[in-house]
Amino acid sequence: MDTILVVNAGSSSVKFQVFGVESGNTLKRQMRGQVDGIGTHPRLRATGPDRAVLADRAFAAAAVPDVPAALAAAGNWLREELHIGPIAIGHRVVHGGPDHDAPVRVSAEVLQRLERYISLAPLHQPYNLAPIRSVLARFPDIPQVACFDTAFHRGHSPLADRYAIPEKLYAEGVRRYGFHGLSYEYIAAALPQIAPELAGKRVIVAHLGSGASMCAMDGGRSVESTMGFTALDGLPMGTRPGQLDPGVVLYLATEKGMSPADIQTFLYKDCGLKGLSGVSNDMRELQDSGDARAQFAVDYFVYRIGLNAGMLAAAMSGVDGFVFTAGIGENSPKLRAAIAGKLAWLGVSLDAAANAEGRSLISRPGSPTPVYVIPTDEELMIARHTLALLAPGPIRSQYERAS
Ligand code: ADP
Repeated sequence: MDTILVVNAGSSSVKFQVFGVESGNTLKRQMRGQVDGIGTHPRLRATGPDRAVLADRAFAAAAVPDVPAALAAAGNWLREELHIGPIAIGHRVVHGGPDHDAPVRVSAEVLQRLERYISLAPLHQPYNLAPIRSVLARFPDIPQVACFDTAFHRGHSPLADRYAIPEKLYAEGVRRYGFHGLSYEYIAAALPQIAPELAGKRVIVAHLGSGASMCAMDGGRSVESTMGFTALDGLPMGTRPGQLDPGVVLYLATEKGMSPADIQTFLYKDCGLKGLSGVSNDMRELQDSGDARAQFAVDYFVYRIGLNAGMLAAAMSGVDGFVFTAGIGENSPKLRAAIAGKLAWLGVSLDAAANAEGRSLISRPGSPTPVYVIPTDEELMIARHTLALLAPGPIRSQYERAS
């Protein structure tokens, strides 16, 4: 059977999934895996749709020193032991810059253009692109598709896309891009089946994971995001602060003598729930902790989501529905209930039992604003885009997530 490999490469791990292309262009997940501990304690792990362990093996640090080597290790295993040779590879690429409002098939020229956006996402873009470059060199005949976290938001109006700074900076790419676009696009595609009454309407989608943002979606299109130029803005996250007066950054530089590199590390790794609580960046641990600072961090997260929901509702002059997704949104009834409490003025009335049971529709029947929980699936979205660019035509895919 034809297969598509989906790759999500970060600085210390490469996650991958394999989708089978069944008759009629139906996509079915066959496995998910990752190589982590790159350069230190590399380890390849993979599981099948029934969670059966397909691989769990360690490598010498020198054998997997970098991200391309990690993808090569996974690729060799797939090819040599499972005899899986993908017909195409779809990659998650965080930044498509100002010009990409859709996925793109990668050529040497496209890759060169995407490399220009490294300065816009220095912690992600180089790791996303490195395996693309190495596959292009080693297997030039395998089609590769880059799918961007920014693309879904590129239709924003100039009012939503700009900062109040001189035009020259906008022209060179300093814009309010927004991220988590593949997740929002998946939700937009799922709404007609799961919540048909909301499909053409004004919906706030809250992607609440280690990274967190919210999207104002009108008729299935993004019109506003809590994130901006980088994935630092908006909601507080596991280790990132969310919205921050730029004066704080000036203070860190001038009064604390921090270098740009120090500030970057601080903002990406030491703030957010971790910085606030001093306990953990992990929502489960914070909820289980008896430490008052942990509870404060949870309350802060909920408060900021409420504030930002108000902003997004204003962007659409109202809201017709609310959707929770990603690790926290999908799995924490307690957080959902606390957030829903902040949204009562927007017409949200939660059904406590439905929420506790983890149903899809968790608002009361009479709730003016229905609330749904929809598990996201960014990898399936990438596989769909990859297949669509290979073979234009209708693509079906299984909505249930084979975990
Ligand atoms: P990412 O993909 O951005 O790394 P996820 O979407 O996997 O993140 O979300 C991770 C977050 O979800 C963590 O903060 C984790 O604690 C939280 N999470 C997962 N399950 C639960 C749960 N049952 N209750 C509360 N938080 C949860």
